[in-house]
Amino acid sequence: ETRESLNFIEHIIEDDLAGDYVHDQLCFRFPPEPNGYLHIGHASSICLNFGLGLKYDAPVNLRFDDTNPTKEEQEFVDAIKKDVAWLGYEWANECYASDYFQQLYDWAVQLIKDGNAYVDSQSSEEIATQKGTPSEPGQASPYRDRSVEENLELFEQMKNGDTPEGQHVLRAKIDMASPNMLMRDPVMYRVLHKHHHRTGTDWKIFPMYDWTHGESDYIEQVSHSLCTLEFQPHRELYDWFLDQVHQPAKLRPKQREFARRNLSHTVVSKRKLARLVEEGIVNGWDDPRMPTISGLRRRGYTATAIRNFADSIGVGKRENLIDVSHLEFCAREDLNKTSPRVMTVLDPLKVVITNYPEGQEEFLISENNPEDASAGEREVPFSREIYIERADFREEANRKFFRLKLGHEVRLKNAYIIKAEKAIKDEDGNILEVHCTYDEDSKSGSGTEASLRKVKGTLHWVSASHALPVEVRLYDRLFSEAAPDADKDKDFLEFVNPNSLEVVTAFAEPSLKDAKAGDRFQFQRLGYFVVDPDSKPEKIVFNRTVGLRDTWAK
Ligand code: ATP
Ligand code: MG
Ligand code: MG
Repeated sequence: ETRESLNFIEHIIEDDLAGDYVHDQLCFRFPPEPNGYLHIGHASSICLNFGLGLKYDAPVNLRFDDTNPTKEEQEFVDAIKKDVAWLGYEWANECYASDYFQQLYDWAVQLIKDGNAYVDSQSSEEIATQKGTPSEPGQASPYRDRSVEENLELFEQMKNGDTPEGQHVLRAKIDMASPNMLMRDPVMYRVLHKHHHRTGTDWKIFPMYDWTHGESDYIEQVSHSLCTLEFQPHRELYDWFLDQVHQPAKLRPKQREFARRNLSHTVVSKRKLARLVEEGIVNGWDDPRMPTISGLRRRGYTATAIRNFADSIGVGKRENLIDVSHLEFCAREDLNKTSPRVMTVLDPLKVVITNYPEGQEEFLISENNPEDASAGEREVPFSREIYIERADFREEANRKFFRLKLGHEVRLKNAYIIKAEKAIKDEDGNILEVHCTYDEDSKSGSGTEASLRKVKGTLHWVSASHALPVEVRLYDRLFSEAAPDADKDKDFLEFVNPNSLEVVTAFAEPSLKDAKAGDRFQFQRLGYFVVDPDSKPEKIVFNRTVGLRDTWAK
């Protein structure tokens, strides 16, 4: 492995290992806030952190950043654990910032005693106005010089729930003239009389992100705390807070930043995804149109496809929009290797093979997966009446239409060559069925001269009397715009594609009758499909994961 083949985060780690870090000190974490389900953007961070853990044989913690009781729920904790495990990663420790509330409180008391924190009794509006602007210094709070004794007493009252929400906050005493606005006496604690999903009503004060995150890294002795670029200005504060508690014998974590990954034709923000759920635009966090890990899983994506996607875009220093077609490419690439082939007709047109004996049936041998010899074979029934796709027949068509047209032949996949003789129509001219004849010597694999005859075009089909009716959910992009949330003056919901879901009843070959939720297939000539958990024994439901080729590329 050459230095050029490493990404910039790996360069930082290699440099640290060449410097004063030892290998055993390496430790990483993935730190979601349990306020929603994980999305494809998080997958980048998961693959980065857990990938480093595997590469350097170092522990990776799953840390719930659960300091905001108003938005966090156990449901989200459970979903996050399930998704990280499903992606194929094992965390060394399951950690919660809320488990550190006592330690954080004790350290805050120490900061007060050291003269580095004070209780401010102004409103949040007053505090905001006094912050000033980046070009001019802020104004000190009239409470900035409270005595240590008074601060300790008020902070304890806050903790005990003796003060209402909004009456006091604890602020770090840093520098009201700092060019970094985050250093102008940031709030460390606020009072919230809310139920927390883990600590219940034990705590009435809750620590802010900046105070919590670095100290949690320190408690867990995380060596490299990797976060997204918007936290770059927070690094100075991260370091200042560590300065207050760091003991020389312990490892001092470092925060380093990488670029957020955005995906086209969707939104990757838990807050925005929550709106799609709350406003009923989708049927939940795991709706197959959602860019959540659970939505992608239900859509039929494999963990391998998502990991390959994250690895192929890699880590970078600049934010960019990744086209969703790249994610779809990664899905096809993996599904092509692993999905058994079956035949299903989505928009059926009946074909009657007039010279095939009535009442006769036969079972044709079909290969399950040409990409995987070990996948074996199955029997597919054939009979006098079959279904083909309506779009696969035209009465007349030009030479480029390699499907069925009157007077011309096509091959039925794994079956016979048929020739269209007549279109039967209703009085309005709608085609009801097509009458064909077949060449009885042309059976695929029979070795006869007729079976080797080359005809342009092979169609998928299903025997009508054996067909299994199934529900198929065809998904399209959830947003019509590539970057629906780019324009800050517009509500991203304006760009929702109203036709993102079409439901059809299709006819499937009978081998699918035992398919179970989560089973994946290639419907030949149509794409990749997965069995949805909504399936019932009497009606199997399939989701289209992705079509066979990128129909958007044109
Ligand atoms: P959201 O706005 O969706 O809630 P977040 O960054 O607030 O995103 P967290 O739960 O705090 O969500 O994220 C956990 C980790 O995942 C963080 O380290 C965060 O930086 C990273 N992360 C979140 N979104 C992306 C993304 N789009 N690309 C890369 N990493 C991301
Ligand atoms: Mg966050
Ligand atoms: Mg967030």
